[in-house]
Amino acid sequence: MSDDTRRDAGTRVLDRLNEIHPRLEALYKDLHAHPELSFAETRTAGVVAADLERLGFEVTTGVGRTGVVGVLANGEGPRVFLRADFDALPVEEQTGLDYASKATGTDSEGRRVPVMHACGHDMHVACLIGALDLLAGARESWSGTVVAVFQPAEELGSGAQAMVDDGLFDRAGTPDVVLGQHVAPVPTGMIACHPGPALAATDALLVRMFGRGAHGARPEASIDPVVMAAATVMRLQTVVSREIAGGDTAVVTVGALNAGTKDNVIPDEAELKLNIRTYTPEVRATVLGAVTRIVNAEAAAAGAERDPEITPVDTFPVLVNDPAAVDRTTGALRAHFGEHTVVDMGPATGSEDCGVLATASGAPMCYWYFGGTDPAAFETATKNGTLGRDIPSNHSPHFAPLINPTLDNGVRTMTVAALAWLRTR
Ligand code: ZN
Ligand code: ZN
Repeated sequence: MSDDTRRDAGTRVLDRLNEIHPRLEALYKDLHAHPELSFAETRTAGVVAADLERLGFEVTTGVGRTGVVGVLANGEGPRVFLRADFDALPVEEQTGLDYASKATGTDSEGRRVPVMHACGHDMHVACLIGALDLLAGARESWSGTVVAVFQPAEELGSGAQAMVDDGLFDRAGTPDVVLGQHVAPVPTGMIACHPGPALAATDALLVRMFGRGAHGARPEASIDPVVMAAATVMRLQTVVSREIAGGDTAVVTVGALNAGTKDNVIPDEAELKLNIRTYTPEVRATVLGAVTRIVNAEAAAAGAERDPEITPVDTFPVLVNDPAAVDRTTGALRAHFGEHTVVDMGPATGSEDCGVLATASGAPMCYWYFGGTDPAAFETATKNGTLGRDIPSNHSPHFAPLINPTLDNGVRTMTVAALAWLRTR
């Protein structure tokens, strides 16, 4: 038996990581400096497509508007979907890094906004390209079909559905498994994966409440939407505390409350933006029902002459990890990186539309988090009880994964996870 066959396929496939690292680090910094908003990821798509061509993938662009799909058929075996999202956020970067973004974009309301990869999707792209590079360079070590899904508009919750609606499975076949990962503000080297409902469903709602405007000196002539909205915000705090069982979980956040322009003018209307997180259809229905009831009741209590409007903005379904797929994937990760590197931190209140690729195709899903934070800084903040203050989380203008070793870790994790499903030899 040669030395080469004694080593497992994962170890052999990962051999070239040091060699490709400089290229991946340059790719990551380039993507970080050039973020694009949801469904506007045209430059990013071009960069990804060029890399896929270089690696010998069959490439389709423009899937679900700006998505990119790469297929590498390498003989008999399972069809493994590897997914990375690639959109950025309207956030002004404040990391001070030399590769920080100075980009701007146009948001859905036509405003010029700063743009930043504040959720780390640039890391997901670089890690997936790295894994594809390693797999493409070691085709003798595995067989099957690798399908790389570079997805737009995760932040809107509609990119995965857009790719499905645009014939993703007709173009790339039906997956035997869907694998995805997200960088998180936990120590580098840590992998977190939870079987079952792992990421919450989100409902984002826009609520308009209508009053009657008047002079600030004549409240008796008005129906004050400011007071109406304020009472609604307070009453909404009872939904989770009074209507959801202690063993269930939900989050109701009023992220925006806008009304009026001047101290002596009572405005006509107020606008609330709500964000709701739930894990089961039953709890979701209870929360949405309670929100609707409270908004209408507070308007009635204030004597509003016009019913409020409640408009759904974004919806993310709950992401459900298949327990058997989690066992198989995390088993391979544990065998490769050590028992203690994979933890179950329970369900997260974040949301992800990656699960759509699994539910729409009937395939099992395994989605995990991998750490991007300096372990020493994390330990200090944990000791001081200042994790929330000192360790920037995703969507923060200070969010900046530690490139080394986060990048290599993400490549390794995705590669080993893929090989857990491909046929290895
Ligand atoms: Zn995000
Ligand atoms: Zn994200």
